[in-house]
Amino acid sequence: MEDIGSQIEHLSKKVEDMERMVEGIHQISLEMVGSYRVKLTMELVFGLLAEFYDCERGILLWRKGADFIPAGALRIEEVEKDEWRIEAKGISSYLKDKRRPLSLSSLPTALLPFSQKGLHILLPLQGKRGLAGILLFGLGGEALLEPTEERILQVLANFLVLSLQKERLYIKATNLSRKFKAQLEIATREFRALNKELKKKIYNLHNLFQVSTNVYAIFDINHLFNSLLLTILGQIGAKSVTIFLSAGDGEGRLIPKFYKGIREDEISDLILKREDKFSRFMARKGVPVLATQIDESLLKEREFIHLKKLELELFSPLLVSGELMGIMALGGRVNGEPYHPEDLEMLAILTNMAGVAIGNVKEYKKVEKLSYTDGMTDLHNYRYFSNRLEEEIIRAKRYDHTLSLIILDIDHFKNYNDSLGHQQGDVALKELSEILRKSVRKIDIVSRYGGEEFCVIMPEVKSSGCKKFMERLRKKVEDHHFKGEEVQPKGKITVSLGGATFPQDAATMDEFIYKADFCLYEAKRGGRNCSVSYGELHSPREVVPALFGG
Ligand code: GH3
Ligand code: MG
Ligand code: MG
Repeated sequence: MEDIGSQIEHLSKKVEDMERMVEGIHQISLEMVGSYRVKLTMELVFGLLAEFYDCERGILLWRKGADFIPAGALRIEEVEKDEWRIEAKGISSYLKDKRRPLSLSSLPTALLPFSQKGLHILLPLQGKRGLAGILLFGLGGEALLEPTEERILQVLANFLVLSLQKERLYIKATNLSRKFKAQLEIATREFRALNKELKKKIYNLHNLFQVSTNVYAIFDINHLFNSLLLTILGQIGAKSVTIFLSAGDGEGRLIPKFYKGIREDEISDLILKREDKFSRFMARKGVPVLATQIDESLLKEREFIHLKKLELELFSPLLVSGELMGIMALGGRVNGEPYHPEDLEMLAILTNMAGVAIGNVKEYKKVEKLSYTDGMTDLHNYRYFSNRLEEEIIRAKRYDHTLSLIILDIDHFKNYNDSLGHQQGDVALKELSEILRKSVRKIDIVSRYGGEEFCVIMPEVKSSGCKKFMERLRKKVEDHHFKGEEVQPKGKITVSLGGATFPQDAATMDEFIYKADFCLYEAKRGGRNCSVSYGELHSPREVVPALFGG
C-alpha cells in the first residue's frame, strides 16, 4: 500500500511539475513574441532548468564566425574568458543533424576542451544552416533524462534558436535602417544644399534676365553705366565698383568715369592707359581676373600697385567688338568672403552685356544720326527739322525768347538741272549746303526742307536780325560761283528767302511755317533773289488766312 501510495505521490508530483513546465514554456513563448532579445529567452530557459532539472550550472555558446563563444551562463563566472571559446568546425560536424540532448561524457573531450565540471548534458541548437549554438548544463539529481524531458529540452532548444534568429534579424534590420537613415540624412542634406544652390541660380538668372532686358533697352551711356554699377553692387555684393573708360582725348587714357562705394578723391588720380601692361593683360584675358591671379610680371607695375592699394580685388575688361573700351574694378565683398567662381561668371556675363549694350548704343547713335540726316547734303532732314522746331518753340515760350525761321528756295533751279543735268544740280545743292552750314551760328539748325528748299531755325533771333541774316546769306549765294551758272536767266544761281519770327508772327508751329513759306512766296513774286520777312510786310493781317485766326 505504502509502495503504491508513494508511487502515486511521485507520479502526481511529476504531473504537477509537467503542468508547471508547460506553463513555463508557454510563458517563454509569450515573452518571445514581444521580445527580440535572445538574452531574455536564455534567462527564462536557465530559470526553467534550475527549477525543474535542479540544474546548478549552465552555459550557452553561440556560433560567431568560425567559433562558438559564450552568450550567457548560469552560475559560471568569467564566461568572457577565452577558455570557453571553441572551434566550431569539429563540434558542428560531430553534432550534425543531432537534435536530442546528449550526455557530455559520450563526447570526445577534444571537441570541448574546457573544464566540464558540473556540466552533464549538451543540447544541440540546430539552426537553418547547421549548428547555431550549444547549451551545456548540469543536472542536480539523476543524470538521466526521460523521453518527455528530452522532448521538452528540444522545445527549449527551438525557442533559443528562434530567439537568436529573431535577434539577429532585428540587429540586421536595425543596422540597415540606421545605415539607411544615415544615408537618407546625407542625401537630404545634399538635396537641401543643391536646392538652395539651384534656387540661388534661378534667382540670379531671373535677375540677370531682368537686368539684360533693361540694359539692352538703354540707349543712353550714362544711364547704362549707372545701372550697371548698381547691378554689380547688388548682384555680386561688391563693396565698390569703378568703371574706367576712355577719356576721349585721343591719348588712350582710361579714367574712372563711373564709380560707387569709393570716394572720388581716392580714385580720381588713378589713370590707366590702354597701352599699359595691365590694360593689355586685361584685354588679352578677356574675362574677369582676381587680383590674386594677376601675372607676377605685372605686380610691380605702377597702376597695379595703385589698384591694390585701393583694395580692389576683381577686374573685368570691357570689350566692344573685341576692343578694350574700359576696365571695371571691384572692391572686396560686403560680407568679407572671397569671390567665388560663380561671382566671376556673373561678372563676366554682366560685363559682356555691358559691352553688347555699348555696341548697341553706338549703333543706335549711328542709326539715329542717319535717320535725322539728309544723305546727300549731310544736313538735318525734314524729320529732324520738325522735331527741333517743336522743341525750340516750347523753349522760346518757356524762356520768353524770340525764335526766327527762314525758308529758302533756289531760283529757276529746274532750268539749271535741265541745262546741266541732274548730277550737276546735285553738286550745286551740296555747295549751297556748305554755304549755309558756314553762315550760321552753332546754335542754329540748318535742314534740307525739300528738294532744293532749305530752312534755318534761329533761336533767340528777332525779326530785324532775321532780315539781316537773310540778306547776308542771299548775297553770299549770289557771290558764290557755281559751275555753269551762266545758263540761269540772270547768269547766276540765286536764292529767294522768306522769314518769320515767333511769337510775334505766329502762335503755333504750323502757323510759323506757313508764315515763313508765305514770305518765300512773296519773295519769288517780288522777282526772286530777294528776301522777305513777315515783319516788314505792310499789312500782315491781310495775308493771314482764316485758318490761323486772321
Ligand atoms: P522757282 O524759282 O519758282 O523755284 O523755280 P524752280 O525751277 O526752282 O521751281 P521749283 O522750285 O518748283 O523746282 C524744283 C526743281 O528742283 C525741280 C527739280 O528739277 C529740282 N530738284 C529738286 N530736288 C532735286 C535734287 O535732289 N537734285 C537735283 N539735281 N535737282 C532737284
Ligand atoms: Mg522749290
Ligand atoms: Mg526753286
